[in-house]
Amino acid sequence: MQRKIVFATHNDHKIREVSQILDSKEWNILSLDDIGFYDKIVEDGKTLEENAWLKVRAIDRFTSINCIVADDTGLEVRALNNEPGVYSARYAGQQRSATDNMNKLLKELKPHSDRSARFRTVLACIIEGQEYTFEGIVNGHIAYDKSGEHGFGYDPIFVPRGYSESFGILSQGIKNRISHRARAFEQLRSFLHTMEERFID
Ligand code: IMP
Repeated sequence: MQRKIVFATHNDHKIREVSQILDSKEWNILSLDDIGFYDKIVEDGKTLEENAWLKVRAIDRFTSINCIVADDTGLEVRALNNEPGVYSARYAGQQRSATDNMNKLLKELKPHSDRSARFRTVLACIIEGQEYTFEGIVNGHIAYDKSGEHGFGYDPIFVPRGYSESFGILSQGIKNRISHRARAFEQLRSFLHTMEERFID
């Protein structure tokens, strides 16, 4: 029998990505559109963790489904004291332009020789009234220029460790295996397996 899990996003791309990680025969992954949640959640937390918890608690108040997950992701650049971090989406301003964000980051990083960076995803989960946090990290570095068309956000300038090309060039298949989000959801998947028989919905 399929069990329901709400993933706190309106983004179909993310729902598809997560459906590939959690077995979609076992899990019916519902988006915020699926449950009719259209309120604006103000993500004004100072950390990824705070924002993920803001989201998951807002959804928990809205729905009676007993398994809810919210994620928040940031790009943390060592030479910039882990910026843009929680501000990754709006690093260059409220217009949230990926190109402007990348250009600003490349400019800020120009004087630095250390270009190491990581993507970090935090998952906040409320499962049968209990709260759990999971994290996924992919280490790498920031390239000197943008390359490739794949993915979104900072993908054209992020080169994961062990590869010589950016996420913008690497296939979606590779990204989905090694990415911060994939790693965080893989942890959630293992956890859900351990408590499988306890679900009632
Ligand atoms: P969100 O929490 O998933 O919405 O991510 C916040 C911001 O981080 C996005 O707007 C992107 O700028 C950046 N980001 C998150 N995940 C990725 C990714 O997989 N590749 C590139 N950029 C990402």
